[in-house]
Amino acid sequence: MTDPTKTAKPFLPLDTLFENPVFAGGIGLAGLGVAAQIGRKSVIRGASLIKQRLLVNLEISKQDPSYPWILQWLARPRASNSIITNSLTRIHHLSMRTIQSKASQSGPAHTKFSLEPGFGKQIIQHKNAYISVSREKSATAVHLTTGEPHETVTFTTLYAFRHIFEDIFDEAYRMAQKAQEGKTIMYKGSMGWTPLGEARRKRPLHSVILDEGVKERIVDDVKEFLRSRQWYVDRGIPYRRGYLLYGQPGSGKSSFIQALAGELDFGIALVNLSERGITDDKLGALFTSLPPRTLILLEDADAAFSNRRQVGSDGYSGSTVTFSGLLNALDGVAAGEERIAFLTTNHIERLDPALIRPGRVDMTVRIGEATRYQAAEMWKRFYGDIDEDEKGQETFLQRLEGLGLVAFGEKPAKSKISTAAIQGLFQFNKDNMDGAIGMVEGLIPKRYEP
Ligand code: ADP
Repeated sequence: MTDPTKTAKPFLPLDTLFENPVFAGGIGLAGLGVAAQIGRKSVIRGASLIKQRLLVNLEISKQDPSYPWILQWLARPRASNSIITNSLTRIHHLSMRTIQSKASQSGPAHTKFSLEPGFGKQIIQHKNAYISVSREKSATAVHLTTGEPHETVTFTTLYAFRHIFEDIFDEAYRMAQKAQEGKTIMYKGSMGWTPLGEARRKRPLHSVILDEGVKERIVDDVKEFLRSRQWYVDRGIPYRRGYLLYGQPGSGKSSFIQALAGELDFGIALVNLSERGITDDKLGALFTSLPPRTLILLEDADAAFSNRRQVGSDGYSGSTVTFSGLLNALDGVAAGEERIAFLTTNHIERLDPALIRPGRVDMTVRIGEATRYQAAEMWKRFYGDIDEDEKGQETFLQRLEGLGLVAFGEKPAKSKISTAAIQGLFQFNKDNMDGAIGMVEGLIPKRYEP
């Protein structure tokens, strides 16, 4: 008997197959392929596991107040900034932002350049952590109120180093604070509040010369209001105060409000009521979302009255804000609980008396043409150090009186000149008193006939 197990030939001659170099090579390659595939999948799974478990992301959107601080922190020049000592790697891909701003309504334009981290991904090292920084702009999503594309900065680092984020925010905040020290931040309201250029150097109060006692009266009133919060709370009165400054252009209304904001360490939230596109709804929304610690400044308050009164012969057309829209913004239910509002106008006659009511406008002040007192104070500011015996000042004032450009005793001024015009004359004759005196006639308004 023969043993079948010993004699039976296998159906597939495996040995022969494996001995065949082509077959063995194929199997080997397939095996390697499968192994590579499994390896790749596990690497991807491992990487996403590491991402989930070991990495931490922090996304900051453009709408967050910290966004500009973070951009500035990322783009900071390391060597010249003493706050940052431990960041070893800088951002190498920067983009430029050009900011053009106006010193005041009629002032010169300033241009500033600021560096920001560019879009895309970059790696930085801060203290002992490596951080991936990704700045991205959405191609599709836009902000509902501003219409700008949605933008984010995302920080990614190892979970173990997550505390570094607090450190970064702390530094960025301190940097922003330091950069704004001695400065007044301006916001512009249209589709929401957006910073208006760079923060400006605070304007000192003494640099704005109003008629005798006027400045003190307003400053004291605002300071008293700021001290009286509890008084308002106790009586259930909305904690609001409104001021109306009126008078011809170039009398220092805007300059004074800017100086006052600096004095109080407040920012300015600016709305130009004659700007196209400002509607009642938008105005109401702006009032309820004021940036903290800001004076709201409504320029050209008369623009809101064009819907009530006849459009003037000067072709004045006004904006889409209505009288009731302005009143609602000032004291309607939607009005923010706490605020100080300044309204300015060059045309008080166009305003409706309903505006002058406590809570809407509590104090109305005329800031008009230059007076003798203002002309004298401005002279001192420009020539005080060279006009030792004050003879120059006396001659200058006499000439102003003689030409009827300022009131003389009981005699009112024949012609209105603005403080801006006097400032212009002094600027033209820098350190030259005689030049300024010699050009006084130049202040006479063109249509003036003696
Ligand atoms: P307004 O808001 O009344 O139109 P601005 O404040 O814009 O006037 O003043 C225009 C320019 O004239 C500014 O450069 C400002 O410095 C100067 N100016 C006008 N009035 C005064 C003033 N009373 N004191 C100091 N500067 C003044």
